[in-house]
Amino acid sequence: AAQTPILSVNNIEVIYDHVILVLKGVSLVVPQGGIVALLGANGAGKTTTLKAISNLLRSERGEVTKGSIELEGKRIEAQTANELVRRGCIQVMEGRHCFGHLTIEENLLTGAFTRRDGKAAIKRDMEMVYDYFPRLRERRTSQAGYTSGGEQQMTAIGRALMSRPKMILLDEPSMGLAPQLQEEIFEIVKKLNQQEGVSFLLAEQNTNIALRYATYGYILESGRIVMDGVASDLRENEDVKEFYLGVG
Ligand code: ATP
Repeated sequence: AAQTPILSVNNIEVIYDHVILVLKGVSLVVPQGGIVALLGANGAGKTTTLKAISNLLRSERGEVTKGSIELEGKRIEAQTANELVRRGCIQVMEGRHCFGHLTIEENLLTGAFTRRDGKAAIKRDMEMVYDYFPRLRERRTSQAGYTSGGEQQMTAIGRALMSRPKMILLDEPSMGLAPQLQEEIFEIVKKLNQQEGVSFLLAEQNTNIALRYATYGYILESGRIVMDGVASDLRENEDVKEFYLGVG
């Protein structure tokens, strides 16, 4: 029998402010241990999809009005964002949300807020984060607001790791970073996937890099999935090349 996917989104509709229909029936699956890319232009609905999953829409007056979302086969639409973090599903927001006035290490510690397994375990995981991001170890006492964009993105991912997630929803990890740093971030995503078994759903406008690291991709246009497939197939697809990879 096929394994239950870690995440399954079934035909969801999202409406903002009671009238603005933004997701018009989105379905997608992230298999256990998968890296799945959610692709599409600015405004297609990628962030909305991630926030619908992690239940972060309410503060934006958005609402899932149809469909269902399952984490490891269990419905989660009614779970709060914090409950989801406890159950192993966490979102890393677009724009590297860090606490600018806190040090990098303090930022990482805030990521452990849902845990009840004590200081020693938290300390161990912090060392694990520093092993993945040696740059963060070097800069642990720096105020996050004064570190580089790449370091802030690393801090945001490191902070999420402190909750011991099974699944990370990663919004635009490459945004605003130089190509070499984008590559560095995606290499770490791959390592976390292979070594820690973390599954990823990543929203990206950078189709090229996302399809090199993802196993599977979905393309979102105006709130609908218009194409999906194995990443290597999508990379060879003529429409994807023309419209998303910028090659004639
Ligand atoms: P981006 O690259 O900007 O993150 P995206 O693909 O993630 O783009 P969303 O941010 O999900 O797209 O936005 C999808 C659509 O929903 C856009 O048309 C946007 O204007 C609209 N939208 C987003 N947030 C709200 C909101 N709080 N209220 C009303 N409309 C919104």
